[in-house]
Amino acid sequence: MTTTVLGYPRIGPDRELKRVTEAYWAGRADAAELRRTAAALRRDVWTGLRDAGVTDVPSNTFSLYDQMLDTSVLVDAVPDRFRHLDGLDAYFAMARGAEGVPALEMTKWFDTNYHYLVPELGPDTRFRLADPAGFKPLAEYREARALGVDTRPVLIGPLTYLLLAKAAPGAPDDFRPLDLLDSLVEVYAEVLERLAGEGVTWVQLDEPALAADRTDDELAALRRAYDRLGTLPARPRLLVATYFGDVAQALPVLAATKVEAIGLDFVAGPGNLEALAGIGGLPLRRIVAGVVDGRNVWRADLEAALATLGALLGLTHEVVPATSCSLLHVPLDLDAEPDLPDDVRGRLAFARQKVDEVVLLGRALTEGHAAISGHAAQAVPPAVDNRVRARLDALGDGTPRASREQRQAAQAKSLGLPPLATTTIGSFPQTGEVRAARADHRAGRSTTEQYEAAMRAEIDRVIALQEDLGLDVLVHGEPERNDMVQYFAEQLDGYAATVNGWVQSYGTRCVRPPILHGDVSRPEPMTVEWTTYAQSRTRRPVKGMLTGPVTMLAWSFVRDDQPLAETARQVALALRDEIRDLEAAGIGVIQVDEPALRELLPLRAADRPAYLDWAVGAFRLATSGVADGTQIHTHMCYSEFGEIIGAIGDLDADVTSVEAARSHMELVADLRAAGYAAGIGPGVYDIHSPRVPDVAEMTEALRRALAAVPADRLWANPDCGLKTRGYAETEASLRNLVAAAKEVRAGL
Ligand code: GLN
Ligand code: ZN
Repeated sequence: MTTTVLGYPRIGPDRELKRVTEAYWAGRADAAELRRTAAALRRDVWTGLRDAGVTDVPSNTFSLYDQMLDTSVLVDAVPDRFRHLDGLDAYFAMARGAEGVPALEMTKWFDTNYHYLVPELGPDTRFRLADPAGFKPLAEYREARALGVDTRPVLIGPLTYLLLAKAAPGAPDDFRPLDLLDSLVEVYAEVLERLAGEGVTWVQLDEPALAADRTDDELAALRRAYDRLGTLPARPRLLVATYFGDVAQALPVLAATKVEAIGLDFVAGPGNLEALAGIGGLPLRRIVAGVVDGRNVWRADLEAALATLGALLGLTHEVVPATSCSLLHVPLDLDAEPDLPDDVRGRLAFARQKVDEVVLLGRALTEGHAAISGHAAQAVPPAVDNRVRARLDALGDGTPRASREQRQAAQAKSLGLPPLATTTIGSFPQTGEVRAARADHRAGRSTTEQYEAAMRAEIDRVIALQEDLGLDVLVHGEPERNDMVQYFAEQLDGYAATVNGWVQSYGTRCVRPPILHGDVSRPEPMTVEWTTYAQSRTRRPVKGMLTGPVTMLAWSFVRDDQPLAETARQVALALRDEIRDLEAAGIGVIQVDEPALRELLPLRAADRPAYLDWAVGAFRLATSGVADGTQIHTHMCYSEFGEIIGAIGDLDADVTSVEAARSHMELVADLRAAGYAAGIGPGVYDIHSPRVPDVAEMTEALRRALAAVPADRLWANPDCGLKTRGYAETEASLRNLVAAAKEVRAGL
């Protein structure tokens, strides 16, 4: 019986890859040490999977930074600005930029929290196999074979690679990366032939782009690519792996090619089963059946998975139990979590445990049901909180707030802010001292009194600075927060934190998403003390700062036994209580951040209205319990709203701040065209760089925005939180920002 996984975490049990890579960048480790550590990590993955009983072990799932970047290097799609560099220098420069050379753009991998480096292609891009004798998939295949493991090299498929690429700056308007398909496929043909020459029997080509809506042109391109690769005279057998959703559109196209195996995700794409039956099955192929969830942390329902495998047996020649996608998206090992409560632990499986599930399912297919009977989930069901449920039932959608005009009038009175009011997005620089104070308290090296005194001192300093700068709406600076989701998750019932549950977000950046495992409730106020302390230090309004329900879900692992919409309402209710408490304590401006609103947007257009409906509903449930004179802000860290532009207005916030510094304020006009009529704070400077923008530049940005919004609804603010910045540039930039707002105000 064959079993497999589509990919595996590569950072190592102790984030060894992060440590050695950062040491290499800092000059504390040399290239040899980096390569040695990388090789040891690969070895442990290959032998670990083999020893766990996986029969088909993947390779080339390792990366020093990112698999899309690896693909660009493989096919020599290296923009000219990196050509004077070579080897690791060129590689890391593409990832992170170098002296005078900006990095490739980075963006989210489908609807996950992993980020890839976007290929930059133009009509002059000439693909070629950059290193025919030692290209990475070949080198890693050899390396594994030397360890006695015969692996299946994994590559990003040519269609997905091109669909995720962008046109290089300067490319003609009508250029599309997909135009380069035929020449790219020739490089893949060479790769496959060389791998076959080496004795490789199977290659996996990942085509997750097929889980999104595809045009007829794109499906025709799919067909052309795999007709060509399928008819190569000497090649390994091909597994085209799809994941992150159902691929009903693409399935008949793939079925008409000569690829030997198709990977289907039955977790995110339950419709795949029906689609497969709809084309009469694939009687001559292998189906790699993604029945163990590669993206979430729950134990598989082995009975249900086995039933799916059983149904597939009637539709195809061979069924291979597998994970639904690469295990890159889950933490490595549940056994590295000493502190989780037993009832929660009993419901969890991380990458290692998921491998065991796949292997068990393989045994059940040959030995029968008995193989899993001892392992069927007997976990304690999620904790139910009847009080939360009853309150939500009684609230329904909540009562909508008064009309925008009525609120604007009430807030003009309660807040008395000038036109072009100035503010920031929430966090101030997290200095070494602030981080150390948090770490010391966490580790028990300081008392709670000492810790709180340190935080109050930081708040004092941030408030005094903002008064000195002349900002209109102040913030407390968020010094007590490690992370905008984790901070709240730690205080809410129904959430658990891990100590070692690291997941790669990009490059060496890893995050530990909290686990939302049961009904959510708020045992006590979460932010009121810090916020009211800050307010006690100034006569200007201090803005309360919360993380919205969608973002709380997007950056956590979330229970899958009830619809996300229901879970979002529970989080919203906790926030609603917090907002009311803040209001009752005298806080008149409250911001609810939703930077992940767009990120959770479903890959398929047909699923988007329902998503936006619950996402907007949860935000409104959280924010609609306040008086007309209390001003609700929200914040999003991007400017390409596209599909969600209508939803921004539906959130019904009084003020929305967005990233706009890099998109030159066009967004203000777009929002207005979409009917947005509330306050707007288009970020007038980019906090992602230490550069200090001058007054003229920000004056100009504000004037441009004023062409689309009246001054009493326009705000002046940076485009995101300042926590990654230093104080020197923050102070200088904010001083210029306030001066720019004053100058524009004076000219009104
Ligand atoms: N209030 C948060 C901060 O300023 C918002 C962060 C974000 O948008 N990602 O840090
Ligand atoms: Zn932001």
